[in-house]
Amino acid sequence: MMEETFDIHSHRQFIETEREYENTLRPLTFGGFSGQEKIVENLKIFVSAARMRGESLDHVLLHGPPGLGKTTLSNIIANELSVGFKVSSGPVLDKPGDLAGVLTSLEPNDVLFIDEIHRLSPVVEEYLYSAMEDYRIDILIDKGPSARSIQIDLNPFTLIGATTRSGLLTSPLRARFGINMHLEYYDMGTLTGIVLRSADILKIACDRNAAEEIASRSRGTPRVANALLRRVRDFAQVKGNGKIDKAISSYALEALNIDRYGLDEIDNKILLTIIDKFKGGPVGITTIATAVGDDPGTIEEVYEPFLIKEGFLKRTPRGREVTDLAYRHLGRKRVNEQGLLF
Ligand code: ADP
Repeated sequence: MMEETFDIHSHRQFIETEREYENTLRPLTFGGFSGQEKIVENLKIFVSAARMRGESLDHVLLHGPPGLGKTTLSNIIANELSVGFKVSSGPVLDKPGDLAGVLTSLEPNDVLFIDEIHRLSPVVEEYLYSAMEDYRIDILIDKGPSARSIQIDLNPFTLIGATTRSGLLTSPLRARFGINMHLEYYDMGTLTGIVLRSADILKIACDRNAAEEIASRSRGTPRVANALLRRVRDFAQVKGNGKIDKAISSYALEALNIDRYGLDEIDNKILLTIIDKFKGGPVGITTIATAVGDDPGTIEEVYEPFLIKEGFLKRTPRGREVTDLAYRHLGRKRVNEQGLLF
């Protein structure tokens, strides 16, 4: 059998260009960040207060599904505070030494952003506690009889933790964040605005109704909207006159097989599993997760909220149930116990 080859170089390049693209489109101030009004309003107050006092901002926990702006917002907070911004992530901070290295490099009141904070190892997490609370870490140096612990004082800093899985955070860690915020999916109007803004930055002519079409298929997520805009632009350049209008965006989105409601592969798999294997439900989350091959927490925190918000899924006391909209969308007919349509 031929082994599948994986070109790490071109893969890395792909990720690099995606990241560059995202960075170009990242708003840098609260003013440029649309949606999440309540969160932004509160953050503005906390940031102004910290600035007035010349102190570091309280630690912030941002949770919510991927691509909703947690990294962007953290970057904005650092900019608005006029302090430095360092980025790391749970899986990267593998050993206490890694964490100590990052923490000791922080200037007074800097922001340290830790993405996927639920993936910190328990020992690193333990070190983080005293760093967050007292701006101090105790590091154990040497091994065996000469082992000793030294205390390092840190500059005051703000930790911003981001997670898609807040359910996995330990309560001692969660308790150390003074500010705790949940990001919601974006509505169509806001997402349309984000697409138009991105088109403007990229100097692409894009009609409002084309932007609406892209927004409606973006799963309420700016990252998806920006990625679709980029794909549609390719079609507009090759198959059209470079301008994105309703016709070329519909054509591109159909050609790319993008779901009409913006659902992704796993969303559809979840709905189909409930319909085909469990007669539409009610069925428990753990059973669904086993059938889909994902873990219950991810389904509950990452997928389900969107499916419920858009009316494809209902939570009932006896488990999850799909709605008529899901049946219609997936072209399935409801059958009852006797195998009859109803
Ligand atoms: P997360 O960290 O939650 O996964 P990011 O902050 O990386 O998400 O955002 C993904 C992309 O979406 C970025 O390119 C960013 O520019 C864009 N984006 C996210 N939120 C907004 C927003 N409110 N307004 C404009 N663009 C946004």
